[in-house]
Amino acid sequence: MLIGCRNSQFFVDFSHHFSSPMENLHHFGGLLNWKKKRRKKSQTRAFVEVKPNGCVKVSLENCVHRPPAERSRDIVVVGAGVAGAALAYALGKDGRKVHVIERDLREPNRIVGELLQPGGYLKLIELGIEDCIEEIGSQKVFGYALYKDGKNTKLAYPLENFDSHVSGRSFHHGRFIQRLREKAASLPNVKLEQGIVTPLLEENGIVKGVQYKTKAGKVLKAYAHLTIVCDGCFSNLRHSLCNPKVEIPSCFVGLILENCNLPYTNHGHVILANPSPILFYPISSTEIRCLVDVPGQKVPSIATGEMANYLRTIVAPQVPFGLTKFLQLYPKRTFHVLGASSIV
Ligand SMILES: Cc1cc2nc3c(=O)[nH]c(=O)nc-3n(C[C@H](O)[C@H](O)[C@H](O)COP(=O)(O)OP(=O)(O)OC[C@H]3O[C@@H](n4cnc5c(N)ncnc54)[C@H](O)[C@@H]3O)c2cc1C
Repeated sequence: MLIGCRNSQFFVDFSHHFSSPMENLHHFGGLLNWKKKRRKKSQTRAFVEVKPNGCVKVSLENCVHRPPAERSRDIVVVGAGVAGAALAYALGKDGRKVHVIERDLREPNRIVGELLQPGGYLKLIELGIEDCIEEIGSQKVFGYALYKDGKNTKLAYPLENFDSHVSGRSFHHGRFIQRLREKAASLPNVKLEQGIVTPLLEENGIVKGVQYKTKAGKVLKAYAHLTIVCDGCFSNLRHSLCNPKVEIPSCFVGLILENCNLPYTNHGHVILANPSPILFYPISSTEIRCLVDVPGQKVPSIATGEMANYLRTIVAPQVPFGLTKFLQLYPKRTFHVLGASSIV
């Protein structure tokens, strides 16, 4: 730290004092956007003026002041799905000040991310968030049953060397996400806010934060030393960083079957059907998820009844266990359709 004197003002050069921008931020309560440049050592200065009455006035040069709503945190995370919420908790636990901005904080109703493999469960333990799959009606999964051409076999996860509680887990995706979000937000240094992030804020080619629209419609900016975008497969922000070619080879049609059983309890069931696979797995003690892969980007119309007809005539006859009647009932039920995208 260098201290100099000019008339009645002292000036203090902090360039040597702070070893990192993060350290600087902690010293100034997050008020400043510090840009440390080694080549221009005395670029950022604090002027300390000693008034005749003994009061001290500190003024800062070359520091960007942000209004309170725009104060900087260590990390901004965009999106609170599995990745964003788990990451926010891990970073918060590590002592970082994290600001998570999620487009919709209501419980998601999606057909993705419902079956966590044992490796995923072990990861939850490693992160200290394994309690997030409790109290959501999750079901243990020990392996898969495979069906093809009238034959079937059972494949167990190789869990012999693990404690008995280690297994796969299946559940309602939305319930799991809400638990992860609650867990992250329970840390005092994690701020979880509803808002839609529009652009990333860049200065001289460096991402400095994000602009977002709050639930109340207010446009705000959030600055951080690090911005992590976890906005999922339908990302609107990815194209500002890269230009991936996304292909959608097929769509998943999802439905929930109630109060029926699968032949192998606590197992996923995969039917290698024609033209493409059909999956079943429990997502609660009374509900079974059925996922039908439909090739192509255009699925049969739900509104005109083509989808129900497809399930009745193409899917149901290929299901070798007693779920045919459930699938035939489905004209009355709600379907979920989601493109199975892959980045090539
Ligand atoms: C049909 C299907 C089935 C799958 N099944 C499984 C499975 O059984 N097991 C498994 O492990 N994986 C499964 N996956 C993959 C899994 O769903 C994804 O890997 C996982 O959801 C990715 O998590 P994420 O947090 O990156 O993205 P997402 O879960 O998509 O979360 C992104 C979040 O970002 C928010 N967001 C988006 N844009 C903005 C914005 N501009 N501003 C603020 N917030 C924003 C969204 O609202 C959302 O909450 C499946 C995928 C598909 C398509």
